[in-house]
Amino acid sequence: MSFIEGLARDQVNLLPPCVDDYVSPDALVRVVDAFVTSLNLAELGFGRAIAAVTGRPGYHPGDMLRLYIWGYLNQVRSSRQLERACVRDLEALWLMRRLAPDYRTIASFRHDNPEAIVGASAAFIQFCRETGLISGRLVALDGTKMRAVASPKNIAGADRLARDVAHTEKEIAYYLERLDIIDEAVAQGFDDQPKHREAFTTAMETLGRRKDRLVRRQDILKDRDETALVFGESDARPMGYGRSPKTPCYNMQSVVDVDSGLIIHHDVTNEANDSQLLHPMSMATMEVLEVDELKVLADGGYSNAQAVAQCERDHIEVAAPIKRGAMSTDFFRPAQFVYDEETDTIRCPAGKTLRPSGKHTRNRAIRYRTPACKDCRLKSRCTSGAQRTIHRLFDQAALDRMEARIYADPSLMVTRRCTVEHPFGTIKRMSGGGRFLTRGLRAVKAEAALSIVAFNILHAVNAFGAERLTPAG
Ligand code: SF4
Repeated sequence: MSFIEGLARDQVNLLPPCVDDYVSPDALVRVVDAFVTSLNLAELGFGRAIAAVTGRPGYHPGDMLRLYIWGYLNQVRSSRQLERACVRDLEALWLMRRLAPDYRTIASFRHDNPEAIVGASAAFIQFCRETGLISGRLVALDGTKMRAVASPKNIAGADRLARDVAHTEKEIAYYLERLDIIDEAVAQGFDDQPKHREAFTTAMETLGRRKDRLVRRQDILKDRDETALVFGESDARPMGYGRSPKTPCYNMQSVVDVDSGLIIHHDVTNEANDSQLLHPMSMATMEVLEVDELKVLADGGYSNAQAVAQCERDHIEVAAPIKRGAMSTDFFRPAQFVYDEETDTIRCPAGKTLRPSGKHTRNRAIRYRTPACKDCRLKSRCTSGAQRTIHRLFDQAALDRMEARIYADPSLMVTRRCTVEHPFGTIKRMSGGGRFLTRGLRAVKAEAALSIVAFNILHAVNAFGAERLTPAG
């Protein structure tokens, strides 16, 4: 029995004679090519979209955009890797028509055109919407943390900086003490001590520089009025889940159309908390879909009463569970206190009536109390204080309506999970486990847009077929 033999390397034609035969007719790279060809690059704001009359010819932005989208689809994201792919990879050879820009040119394109790249990503969604692939009947919103280009060691909070300064001062004091001892030893004629003096002096200089750097960081923190900053990547913020150690991250938000599974809107922010993002993300989605009302599924992280009420006013119907803080199990839970909308009172487990007795402006809540607590037989199960206080948010009614939607149809949360969470998995797999390669919010937004358009193309081809995605098809 013999083996399957490869071709001889010295033969004249190893590859198919026609470059177009390098890639199969249904290859994803053909969709990337057709999509970029359909774009009006000058309108999107790409630099050098129209060739200059004079000077040395440059690469067409369409070719560079093709290369980047193809790269993000194939987990080839760095400019050096893309440079190599242009001469090694058959799909890249076909896509670039054997153009081989160097890595600086490739990196400059992403650096110089962040807004236009974001526009190109949005253009794909507009194309899908016009083709009827997106219904916008129901959307799901979620966010994920993406790692920034910075080490957790570069996170500095006021406490940690104060601790590091104190520690450095202690080390400096130690070396000063050692130098005094050496001075004494030298005076007594020990000839190996000058060597140590030199080493200690160098260590002192290093520590002095470290202290200066830490003090400078303390000043920056004070000037910006922040609790913690990431030095070296000032747009990123320390983020983490629960008690896990915080790492420098950005928060990537995405809105996914439930019917098509396409990401119809996304954004990157350095706001660690999702609760302030429900309204702006929903409004931006309405703009993309050009609709006057919207139904949004979200998780408990978005249950911000004020934002939900604002959404209601703007005809956005949100379905999300209410996020509740940890509650003591020793006393009656707030859910056991029943609110009566007609009389604006609350009935407690002892059947007494709690009435409004003031406002908590910072928390946007009304306090409800009753004088009956004084003689209540259930008091030991209700409060350890003199009187039980129930806080009801100004916009609690909007939150209650939001939660009622979940109780009316519990499958909504399953739909949310199945719609919006897996795209993050795919995007993180395509982007080195969820790590950005560039620094600064502006550049990171362009990277996110490339990941999103790559995901959308991949998903749309799998769901609807390549023919429906080529403008001619
Ligand atoms: S302590 Fe006050 S609020 Fe609590 S059950 Fe008794 S009367 Fe009601």
